[in-house]
Amino acid sequence: MTKPALFMPRARRSHRLLAALTAGALALLAPYAFARSDDASGARLAQACAGRDGWAEPAPPARIASETGIKAWYVGTCGITTLLLDSDDGLVLIDSGVAEAADIVLGNIRKLGFDPRDVRWLLSSHEHHDHVGGHAALRRTTGAKTAALAVAARSFARGKISPEDPQRGRIADFPPFPVDRILADGGALAVGSLKIAVHATPAHTPGSMSWTIARSAAEAPAMTIAYVDSATTISAKGYRFTDHPDRVAQARNGFSVIRNLPCHVLVTPHPSASDLFARLAGKAPLIDAGACARYAAKASAYLDTRLTQEREDAPQAEVTKP
Ligand SMILES: [Zn+2]
Repeated sequence: MTKPALFMPRARRSHRLLAALTAGALALLAPYAFARSDDASGARLAQACAGRDGWAEPAPPARIASETGIKAWYVGTCGITTLLLDSDDGLVLIDSGVAEAADIVLGNIRKLGFDPRDVRWLLSSHEHHDHVGGHAALRRTTGAKTAALAVAARSFARGKISPEDPQRGRIADFPPFPVDRILADGGALAVGSLKIAVHATPAHTPGSMSWTIARSAAEAPAMTIAYVDSATTISAKGYRFTDHPDRVAQARNGFSVIRNLPCHVLVTPHPSASDLFARLAGKAPLIDAGACARYAAKASAYLDTRLTQEREDAPQAEVTKP
């Protein structure tokens, strides 16, 4: 009798202690019951960049949608996206940002525990310095190969934007770099566990490229990250889209391709264009299969408005956003 009498209260005490600890833990977890596991790094990114969107302003790295089964991280700055993918057989980068941001991108890759020399491919959205300004430096540092559509590759080799670009005259040159592999529209790179397909979406520039990233394994969840290029039809002062029907037709073709992309997680070269930081922080839906279609519809409506304004001969103010 003595032994159980002494033992039992201790057991009950530890039981009560366990129950109290469990209740405490549940109470702590309750507000985050529906939060995503990546929200912490997304929240740090959103907080670090609150009120800051400079192209060379440092930002911490953040995981992107681990639910997709794709190992993807934001490793860019507060104003420009660089997307890092781990294929299980080497790394892939899409976009480098401005030349001054190359060290920020490299630092973020290292912070995640990766070696920049494991970057095998360096891809890009479009032929403007705010997205490929760091390519020459990153290509040298990492030893990665570059791949692009032929039309963009011509600009990359010269370090200049396309002669047909509506923003010609107001976009700076960038350090040129060679393209190691020319991809056909719809073509894909098979890298480790990933299939990374390129889509010509020539809305913003003649060489605009969007990328869809999916796991190649048959049993993998069929979720796609869509890295969709800028689709804004903006221009240098004095340019009239109504004078360039071919450019308008290309832009409309770009919208149509974007509308139909497989698109579970939309990521854009300018994070603000897809409200990316708020979505990574769990403040807005990150996975949204309708996001690409809405992005295309918004860009299409913008072009319609612009064409109407030009026809009405309204004075065309220079649009300063890239
Ligand atoms: Zn641009």
